[in-house]
Amino acid sequence: MKHVQSLTCIRCGAEHAPRPDTCTCSQCGGLLEVVYDYASIRCSISRAILENRRDPSMWRYREFLPIAKESDPSGLRVGGSPLYKAVRLADHLGLAALYIKDDGINPTASLKDRPSAMAVVKAAEAGADTIACSSTGNAASSLAGNAAARGFKTYIFVPERAPKGKVAQLLMFGAQVVSVKGSYEDTFRLSAEAIQRWGWYNRNAAINPYLMEGKKTVSFEIAEQLNWQIPDYVAVSVGDGCTIAGVWKGFKDLYETDLIHKLPRLISVQAEGCCPINKAFSEGSSTLVPMEENTIADSIAVGVPRNFHKALRAIRESDGIAVNVSDGEILSAMQVLGKTCGVFGEPAGVTGTAGVIKALQLKLIPASASVVSLVTGNGLKDIAAAIRAAGAPICIEPDMGLLLQAFKARGVPF
Ligand SMILES: *Cc1c(COP(=O)(O)O)cnc(C)c1O
Ligand SMILES: [Zn+2]
Repeated sequence: MKHVQSLTCIRCGAEHAPRPDTCTCSQCGGLLEVVYDYASIRCSISRAILENRRDPSMWRYREFLPIAKESDPSGLRVGGSPLYKAVRLADHLGLAALYIKDDGINPTASLKDRPSAMAVVKAAEAGADTIACSSTGNAASSLAGNAAARGFKTYIFVPERAPKGKVAQLLMFGAQVVSVKGSYEDTFRLSAEAIQRWGWYNRNAAINPYLMEGKKTVSFEIAEQLNWQIPDYVAVSVGDGCTIAGVWKGFKDLYETDLIHKLPRLISVQAEGCCPINKAFSEGSSTLVPMEENTIADSIAVGVPRNFHKALRAIRESDGIAVNVSDGEILSAMQVLGKTCGVFGEPAGVTGTAGVIKALQLKLIPASASVVSLVTGNGLKDIAAAIRAAGAPICIEPDMGLLLQAFKARGVPF
């Protein structure tokens, strides 16, 4: 990997050789970051080269990804998700331009397929045969699916609260599933102990420095899909903080290699009931104060974010803003995205969009702005939440009289 300089500790600055199974800093235990030789990448990639590439998957950006030259990344088709211009929703909100990046169309229906595909390639490079992680649900189901496609065994730890759809995916992909009676924090701790004990390949968020590199490919796609015209803002729902840090790294990679000349400002969106990253950002603090995991958006109910520092740094560097939304606002965004765009997101999937709506109301962003909102997971994963957002259908005996009555009672036009 000539284009990768080192894995550098974000706490003490120690540099480590980029071995495929290196996780945290050997000196201080801090998180590592993949540092590239941008001069070398700049020589090997250009807009024109990318535009002529057929591969629509995340691996079309291989020059920017920390995988060995001889590595074969084939597996499920991850990435290449659509970017929709949300004309009706933008009009409805009075916003100049709004784009919805629907990452719920990935093979296991969330953005987490990007880091999981990366984890599987790195596990293969490391010669591992078993991969493990703890997850609020999507990291787990994406790992299980991407690993199944390449013949790896998986051990997965999820908190008991994980929605059934995600657990069904895990079981269907043949993972060994451990449902932990406790919070995500408890789940994470047990998985870390088990990984240490049995030496499995570690796909835990933030701990494995390569995962974020998979996530950043979403930003490359946004830039290409907008014909390299970078939006003013990109809204991201935030739990552990790996996604927002990855989104930022992607734009910075493009900037460092002269493929773009402007950087977007990040909108970090968390749930009011669990917003430790936004809280620290708003208070200008760099100390993590754990919070309860109290929100319907299970994928971002993370009381002790694993990527706290990189996430904070990303929001600050981008001159970003932080917005917290209530569960009611999340459910309402779910319905409005469905109705105006035909995009069905899970609660955490639409939290970014809920944040855009709220930021406009609070005048934190101007109506003249162009905004990309990431939809990070598909709504079919959590049907109970969807039905809470949308309500029940008309349910009657098969009789025209009853149908007329029901239409009148509900004010349905006919
Ligand atoms: C994981 C996830 C997020 C947040 O990503 P973090 O890296 O935990 O901040 C947002 N939405 C969905 C659907 C997710 O699965
Ligand atoms: Zn260190």
